[in-house]
Amino acid sequence: MATAIERDQKDVLARFKQEFFQPEDQIYMDGNSLGLMSKRAEAKLVELAASWKVHGIDGWTEGAHPWFTLAEEMSTRLAPLVGALSTEVMVTGSITSNIHQMLSTIYQPTSERFVIVVDELNFPSDIYAVESHLRLRGLDPATAMRKVKSRDGHTLEFDDIVSEMTDDVALLLLPSVLYRSGQLLPIRDITEAAHGKGILAGFDLAHSIGALPHDLHEDGVDFAVWCHYKYMNSGPGGTGGLYIHERHHHLLPGNAGWFGSDKTKQFDMDHQFSKAEGAGAYQIGTPNIFSMAPLLGSIELFEEAGIDAIREKSLQLTAFLRKLIKEQLPELLDVTPEADKDRGGHIALVHPEAARICKALKQAGVVPDFRTPNIIRLAPIAFYTSFNDVEEMVGRLKEIMQGELYKNFTNNRNVVA
Ligand SMILES: *Cc1c(COP(=O)(O)O)cnc(C)c1O
Repeated sequence: MATAIERDQKDVLARFKQEFFQPEDQIYMDGNSLGLMSKRAEAKLVELAASWKVHGIDGWTEGAHPWFTLAEEMSTRLAPLVGALSTEVMVTGSITSNIHQMLSTIYQPTSERFVIVVDELNFPSDIYAVESHLRLRGLDPATAMRKVKSRDGHTLEFDDIVSEMTDDVALLLLPSVLYRSGQLLPIRDITEAAHGKGILAGFDLAHSIGALPHDLHEDGVDFAVWCHYKYMNSGPGGTGGLYIHERHHHLLPGNAGWFGSDKTKQFDMDHQFSKAEGAGAYQIGTPNIFSMAPLLGSIELFEEAGIDAIREKSLQLTAFLRKLIKEQLPELLDVTPEADKDRGGHIALVHPEAARICKALKQAGVVPDFRTPNIIRLAPIAFYTSFNDVEEMVGRLKEIMQGELYKNFTNNRNVVA
């Protein structure tokens, strides 16, 4: 069994650690909630702020990254990360606003087919979006939204997803990676099964983009949404993204706005909407330039490292982490699926004292992530976590568990995590 030091010596991505800002002696395991700031991200933020200072209104068309086409410029560079054509991706909105946009564009309920299938483990915002959208269409979420049930409270079975694909279903919206357990769903198989029954398939990539490769176009996925502030390290509130398969590009945006215009006509100020050709049509208003700027720096790092190398190291880090936990801290129940093909970039550990264990970890210089009621999520990030960090983190966790140091804290959650 290779030691942490030996693993670090062989790590082809080791040099990226110094690209990120991180307090000395802190071990950051929460990059799946908010990725750390990189030097490149900071530099692009400063650069774009300077373009406002220098160019004023002319920043829309001048400078190294003209604001008018900034979203398009980044979308082209982002497309390989989700396995899409560059015309199928757009940097815009947030996960939740993009779900609203995709549903209002692509979901066409009839009296026979109107159900949207989601899952009972999904993140609340996705559910709120679907429910409120159904109400706007005059449908009752109690009958028009159905949740795939989980047998164990942590994961979903492929067969249970397929059983929900009945003749009344119009569309399904599922996560690629479940935010609590870290289960990675088989995107291609689900999409194929859905299409076989005339159902549209959409995915929320919040916990997979930047952690693993995707093949959305080849898989035939109809649409996808994601954010960039988790594994993509674009900063708090960083602009999100959407993908829509080219077979749907004829659709008018359900929520239209002038930034969805054909760019050559946008400033004609005509009341007749001329839709952009590709995914750009589903933008709404003026892009949040400063919330996109960090992504410009962050993408560079992904281009240099390559998503396959990132996935490879991420799998090794999480495998190393769960092995140490299993050997040294068996009282922490690992609920992330076993096989590599079934898991994303984090490990989920269940313990009744999870909330206060997380508080004790924070005091010990480890930043974990707590998800109510009893889950500790740990995400060693390929860019900035070393194998030595993982080993050191497990050592600090062991001291907390053996000395019952968590008893110095109350077992309830803080405001965010
Ligand atoms: C992080 C996350 C969100 C957050 O949505 P925003 O609109 O970006 O605030 C939504 N859904 C899932 C599954 C997430 O993991």
